[in-house]
Amino acid sequence: MSIILRHVSILLRRMKTPLLMMILLIYPLTGSFAQNPPQLVAVSLEDTLKILDKNTEFRWDPFFRSGFFTAGGHKVSFETGLPGENGDVIVDNREIFTLPLPYTDQGLLQFPEIFVSTLKTSLNLPPIEEPSFLRIAAIVIDPGHGGKDSGAVGNHSINGKDVKLMEKDVTLKVSTLLRNRLSVAYPGKQILMTRTGDTFPTLEDRVKFAHAIPLKDDEAIIFISIHANASFNKTARGYEVWYLSPDYRRTVIDKDEEGSADIRSIRNAMMEEEFTTESIIMAQSIMKGLEEYLGPRIPARGIKAEEWFVVRNARMPSVLVELGFVTNAEDTALFLSETHLRSFSDALYKGISDFITLFERSGGFTSN
Ligand SMILES: [Zn+2]
Repeated sequence: MSIILRHVSILLRRMKTPLLMMILLIYPLTGSFAQNPPQLVAVSLEDTLKILDKNTEFRWDPFFRSGFFTAGGHKVSFETGLPGENGDVIVDNREIFTLPLPYTDQGLLQFPEIFVSTLKTSLNLPPIEEPSFLRIAAIVIDPGHGGKDSGAVGNHSINGKDVKLMEKDVTLKVSTLLRNRLSVAYPGKQILMTRTGDTFPTLEDRVKFAHAIPLKDDEAIIFISIHANASFNKTARGYEVWYLSPDYRRTVIDKDEEGSADIRSIRNAMMEEEFTTESIIMAQSIMKGLEEYLGPRIPARGIKAEEWFVVRNARMPSVLVELGFVTNAEDTALFLSETHLRSFSDALYKGISDFITLFERSGGFTSN
């Protein structure tokens, strides 16, 4: 018995070295296996939503492969990547985390655990105290002229018939189509017209109308005046977008506002600067929409700066659009076609909605 034990003990003692070596060899091997390839732990969308507050909303755009979660006034935006790929996850449009990105596996979204825990923490933060982002609450569409003021007039002979085209009719038709489209797209915004029929509000009336719209502190208003051009040169045609010239010093602050005259003039200049910037961006956006939707049918004449009365006195981002020339035969053919009138309103709609998206995403450009 003791002889057998001694033999076993000698055997074990002899084996000690190779056993230890084996253990030492296995340890680093298993250690490196644990790190490479990565053991990515991810959960499905369904499970992610179960982990989050039940009021969490989720939006996903499969085309842009981006999405966001919102809850408690917070927003976490992301784009998908490859499994294990790190990327930017944006919280409340301002804070950026570099995290393993959500990815798709056989068409289904998968959310890495670290992403989900950051998401949960971000959405559970106390609500943001500062005022919410500036949003556009009202859009004023101003159909130029009306009533006794016909605006520009074009006299044409079409198929042997005399046709008199009046600017006031073109502007009202396009403005009404635009109002309808904006009303459907933005049920939460006030979409207003300075006139809805063949009436004659004065320029002062139109500006007063826009200024009388009640707004909260975090709400903004935009003003779009629609016109059509005329020229002695019958070949002149195409659309133009006008904004207020930055050289012109408007009085955008009420005279009876408290504070010294100096402070008033500084504030006046600042506000004007802001409205000018916003007006230029809106003019660019509308010009882009017109180019995109009217294509080669009618030429673009560019963005211009002027001191139009309506635009000048509006204490809000405002532009004036000249759709085309009532004195030109080709532009007139477009104005007489319901299809083309719709294209004008679609183009304006595109430009305005792009501007709204840009404005609201940035929180009102310069205003924060
Ligand atoms: Zn006009």
